[in-house]
Amino acid sequence: MTQDEQRDEPEGATIGTTIGKPQSDTDATGFAPALGDMSADEFRRHGHAMIDWIADYFERIEQLPVLAQVEPGTLIAKLPATPPKAGEPMEELIADIDRLIVPALTHWSHPGFFAYFATSTSAPGIFGEMLSAAFDVKALLWRAAPAAQELEEVALSWLRQMIGLPDTFSGIIYDTASVSTLHAIAAAREGLDLRVRADGMSGRTDLPLLRVYASEQAHSSVEKCVITLGLGQRSLRRVPTDAEFRMDVAALACCIEEDRAAGHLPFCVVATAGTTSTSSIDPIPAIADLCERERLWLHVDAAYAGSAAVVPELRHILEGSERADSLVLNPHKWLFTPFDLSVLYTRRMDLLHRAFSLVPEYLRTLEQGREAVRNHSEYGIQLGRRFRALKLWMTIRYFGHDGLAARIREHCRLARLFASWVESAPDWELLAPVPLSLVCFRACPPRGSESADERTTRLDRLNEEIMHAVNASGEAFLSHTKLDDRFTLRLAIGNIRTTEAHVGRAWQILQESCGRLGSADGV
Ligand code: PLP
Repeated sequence: MTQDEQRDEPEGATIGTTIGKPQSDTDATGFAPALGDMSADEFRRHGHAMIDWIADYFERIEQLPVLAQVEPGTLIAKLPATPPKAGEPMEELIADIDRLIVPALTHWSHPGFFAYFATSTSAPGIFGEMLSAAFDVKALLWRAAPAAQELEEVALSWLRQMIGLPDTFSGIIYDTASVSTLHAIAAAREGLDLRVRADGMSGRTDLPLLRVYASEQAHSSVEKCVITLGLGQRSLRRVPTDAEFRMDVAALACCIEEDRAAGHLPFCVVATAGTTSTSSIDPIPAIADLCERERLWLHVDAAYAGSAAVVPELRHILEGSERADSLVLNPHKWLFTPFDLSVLYTRRMDLLHRAFSLVPEYLRTLEQGREAVRNHSEYGIQLGRRFRALKLWMTIRYFGHDGLAARIREHCRLARLFASWVESAPDWELLAPVPLSLVCFRACPPRGSESADERTTRLDRLNEEIMHAVNASGEAFLSHTKLDDRFTLRLAIGNIRTTEAHVGRAWQILQESCGRLGSADGV
């Protein structure tokens, strides 16, 4: 609540109307206890009300505009620039969440969210987050959080089995795919025995240019990884793709050969299962053959599509990955697990350990070295780690393998259905195959005589305008990409609440927008 605003909420408008009564042992404000935390009774009362608030939020989410309809700076302008000196009652906090925060949210759990890779949280995942915040363990080593370490191994073993990876892979949780891939490339580099851990890379004349390969369609995170690891952007070689946006393996072979001839040191290939622009799947078996021949580390970026492998008939998308050295998959993308939770599987935990293990004296323990004890902090940059496994374990248990597969299968069906509408509409066209739940398409109403360049310019502008019109509707949110230099609309389905009706409505708005904007354009 702004400091100078009237507090005139209507009765029952927020959960705050039921909470926040002062306690006897409170401070001068009458709300927060003078010392210590909120009492258990107060916590219970606010907590119940908070769950009601969340349940209401999900019930009314479709009435909210999916894309925040605010200008930049709106929220900052409405909030006090200085912190409150005295504590404030929970009811005022919640009122501000209703009045100020919710309108400034883009609602990722809205069923009309089709942008980027549509994702969503789920009830068991939210409960997992709540408990994890309550336990608040810092899983720096086994004894600091035995449950966190052991549950992580169990949950990741379950997930590994569900996607069909062999038990030669073990997993570790990081926050995001960007960070998982960073660790994979660091492990790959460690395997070169170049003494990078001890000596670094700067000031060395004994090192050749190290090369990482990824397709032109690979995620920008790969480039950020080489920047962060001090390899430099020039170490990343982008490999051309075929007509369906998959890595061209013959071109990859040529790049490697050229680089070896130039005295460079190829060491890692990042293949993508489910690229960000189109969800294309690189030919992993052929890339694995090449990596084996060339003795290169193969990392598979399955951040989005990896979850689809829990659907038995879609397992083939990871074919060849069993021969990879590492693979990243984001349950926070398409496994209904709240952000953030990314999983790195690798057959070379030893190299990850070699790259990152550093145990200061104060963290040495009796259990060190025992078989069941894996201190996850020795396998990455972070020392303290959140108890992320809990929300994944709860999500897997609540939905079960079949329940997760059924939801993902349905998303793929909806994407195929949408694609069939696009295909059969004369003024629209698909711009990429639809292997999973992402559709790339555009409006292409014809116009009399125009050159190819004029057509491209006209359709780019029209499709961009259509996207803005759809997003301004508040009912659906789409994003775009560029494919073969054409402005391309993307409709990604991955939200647990999305049904055929929502996809149908998005199609209706798209067609109406095209009709209106296309004719305004003189089409
Ligand atoms: N890899 C792919 C294929 C992606 O689509 C994305 C994000 O959408 C990423 C990596 C990066 O994900 P994160 O936000 O978890 O770093």
